[in-house]
Amino acid sequence: MAKDLTQELKFRDPAKARALAAAMQRNLDALGREVSVMHVCGSHEQAIARFGLRAVLPPQLKLIMGPGCPVCVTDGPEVDEAVALAQGGAHVCTYGDMLRLPGTSRSLADAQADGARVHVVYSVAQAVDVARAHPADQVVFMASGFETTAVATAAIALTDLPRNFSILSVHKYVPAAMEVVSRSKESNIEGFIAAGHAAIITGSAIFEPFAARTGSPVVVAGFEPLDILAAIVKLTELILERRPEVFNAYPRCVTRAGNLPAQKVLWRVFEPRAGKWRGIAEVPDGNLDLRPEFARLDARQRLGLSLDTSAVRDEAAAGLERECICGPIMMGLASPHDCALFGKACVPEAPVGACMVSSEGTCRIWHTYGGAPDLRQVEGRPAGQG
Ligand code: SF4
Ligand code: SF4
Repeated sequence: MAKDLTQELKFRDPAKARALAAAMQRNLDALGREVSVMHVCGSHEQAIARFGLRAVLPPQLKLIMGPGCPVCVTDGPEVDEAVALAQGGAHVCTYGDMLRLPGTSRSLADAQADGARVHVVYSVAQAVDVARAHPADQVVFMASGFETTAVATAAIALTDLPRNFSILSVHKYVPAAMEVVSRSKESNIEGFIAAGHAAIITGSAIFEPFAARTGSPVVVAGFEPLDILAAIVKLTELILERRPEVFNAYPRCVTRAGNLPAQKVLWRVFEPRAGKWRGIAEVPDGNLDLRPEFARLDARQRLGLSLDTSAVRDEAAAGLERECICGPIMMGLASPHDCALFGKACVPEAPVGACMVSSEGTCRIWHTYGGAPDLRQVEGRPAGQG
């Protein structure tokens, strides 16, 4: 059923949305207990919040956003590396959301305010343009994002680049983090919705070993409301039938094998290594680092980073950061409403934690779309009664 609906062109039909919600309810009634499922994509959370999808979900279903934002999961010391490079005189180019992301003591925006040369770019190609425009200076691209954006970084690494250009890779590999979340006893996640955009590149097959190892089914979903609801129906069905399989509910864009030339480029340049994700601790195979043959492009090796993280934020700011619960939010253990600072001391204009910085961060999305609106109450039905 889920497959048929995603292949139709009416992706926002309220009657179909209600039919999907009813199908979910039947699956959950058959299960007879609460179920938590996680999606791992900022774009999914944006669609869920924008269309108020949580309001139509059965009360026994908890839909949680996990580590779905590459900005949020970039670790403090990784920001410190970029800040150290900028303060050491290099031009640092990065995507806009990275600018205000806190390091252990400072952000790139702080360094920029002190006169460091920090450039916001929209693509890695623009960072190369900065390098060509400043041939006498070192220019570093702080390369963030998941496997999708890593393909663009990899593609440029295979071209003829100016000698003053290097890459500080903070790219992350999502399937590795799903494994950590899935194995966490506390989070109790029984199934995952995978990001359709990423699966266009990687293919749905990439999740098959994960599903087999962890016993958690995975459904690849698109970004329209019915795509997401249909994916949840399929997920509840797989959980009910105890089938830890991968289902592609986005067949109009995703294939099982994915984009093979793009994968070839990605794995030619990058290799997965253990790395720390903000809020999640060490993730085996969670970072995408440049392979040794690309050492000439690796800013860490070329520019010899020596970190000074001794500077601390002022006491008040440090106190607020201690109250930030981004880590539990990214592990699916808490929601932004559980944070005392949400919408008060922490707002998009003055973010305290990483989840409020990026447009794909959970706290920022909930703040933008008014939290998790409970339309059951708006419609006159009390919450918790479907
Ligand atoms: S890169 Fe796109 S598909 Fe991947 S997690 Fe981010 S928003 Fe989702
Ligand atoms: S509201 Fe702000 S302080 Fe609280 S968890 Fe989210 S980002 Fe952190």
